[in-house]
Amino acid sequence: MGINHCRSFVPPVRTLMGPGPSDVHPRVLAAMARPTIGHLDPAFIQMMDELKSLLHYAFQTENELTIPVSAPGSAGMETCFVNLVEPGDKVVVCQNGVFGGRMKENVERCGGQPIMIEDEWGAAIDLDKVEKALKTHADAKILAFVHAETSTGVQSDAEQLCELARRYDCLTIVDAVTSLGGTPLNVDEWAIDAVYSGSQKCLSCTPGLSPVSFSERAVKKIQGRQRKVQSWFLDLNLLMNYWGSGAKRAYHHTAPVNPLYGLHESLIMIKDEGLENAWARHERHHQALRAGIEAMGLSFTVKESDRLPQLNAISVPQGVDEAAVRKRLLEQYSLEIGAGLGSLAGRVWRIGLMGYSSTPKNVMFCLGALEAVLCDLGAPIEQGKASTAARIVLS
Ligand SMILES: *Cc1c(COP(=O)(O)O)cnc(C)c1O
Repeated sequence: MGINHCRSFVPPVRTLMGPGPSDVHPRVLAAMARPTIGHLDPAFIQMMDELKSLLHYAFQTENELTIPVSAPGSAGMETCFVNLVEPGDKVVVCQNGVFGGRMKENVERCGGQPIMIEDEWGAAIDLDKVEKALKTHADAKILAFVHAETSTGVQSDAEQLCELARRYDCLTIVDAVTSLGGTPLNVDEWAIDAVYSGSQKCLSCTPGLSPVSFSERAVKKIQGRQRKVQSWFLDLNLLMNYWGSGAKRAYHHTAPVNPLYGLHESLIMIKDEGLENAWARHERHHQALRAGIEAMGLSFTVKESDRLPQLNAISVPQGVDEAAVRKRLLEQYSLEIGAGLGSLAGRVWRIGLMGYSSTPKNVMFCLGALEAVLCDLGAPIEQGKASTAARIVLS
């Protein structure tokens, strides 16, 4: 293969309003361009300590074992499962979208036995069904579910699900990849045992890191395992020697130094804004987008009480080629929105308003671009109303 034509890669400038990654703030990119230092350098170790404190704040937890896994959200998911699920363990897994299905895969690969509770894609997890399953399977050890289903734009009631799990003596594994920083998530108050997230959704850092946090109950289970964790890289017993408090920072793997600068900076920005303010911002911009979308005559796929403010699933009107719309948005407006997945493929657009992408400017830009493209394609929409409707919410 010829390489003579290869030059430095200069990506196009996009506006990212899909299911992630979200736009990365220039401050985060600038932090990542700072000089690389050794991952055992005292200055770096001090930064790691701050990073842990900032994650405590973001997760609203005092869990000692709170660290960023050096890999994307899927690795955070895997960290939770490989450490907590032992061969033969029964795990009740809720599935109402793509990511619950991946949880099932994880349980199976750990030699566990998944008990699946399925809900329609686009609906929240049904608490009654979960309770029934926990009653029927009294020997279940873990309840696993997705707090914010990015594939469908649905939020489930994590607080109630965790309470159910405790009542039936189960640990909880919670996917908070899209909820962290975007919507209320109170790890200690809700007594979540294991939670994982991602750097590239509402934290607006670059992809590739997965913050995780484990309760004391979870740590006890991990330390009392009969068998070694099947993954060497994700074995928390080993990682604790690297990230743990007072740990000797023994070499485990080379931390991704510059990406961690980026995560540190993005968490500083959330601290400065205030978590509650960040949650309120995501809600406000969701409401503005919603007003515009509805003024255009389009509708949301998910019922109001289950909607995820940072990920808006919009039903594609009859006769409109959803892929053609996304293609035009990208080519003409350099705007990325997401397609539907699984049973929603071809039927919805997914508009992300995550982290630094959740701004009044993006709401107005997206509504304008979407309206223009839909008009060009002859779609039957109300013209000229969306931006006024959104502006009223924003002002
Ligand atoms: C994005 C996402 C993941 C996977 O994260 P990656 O960083 O892509 O590995 C897992 N769960 C949910 C709910 C997500 O939105």
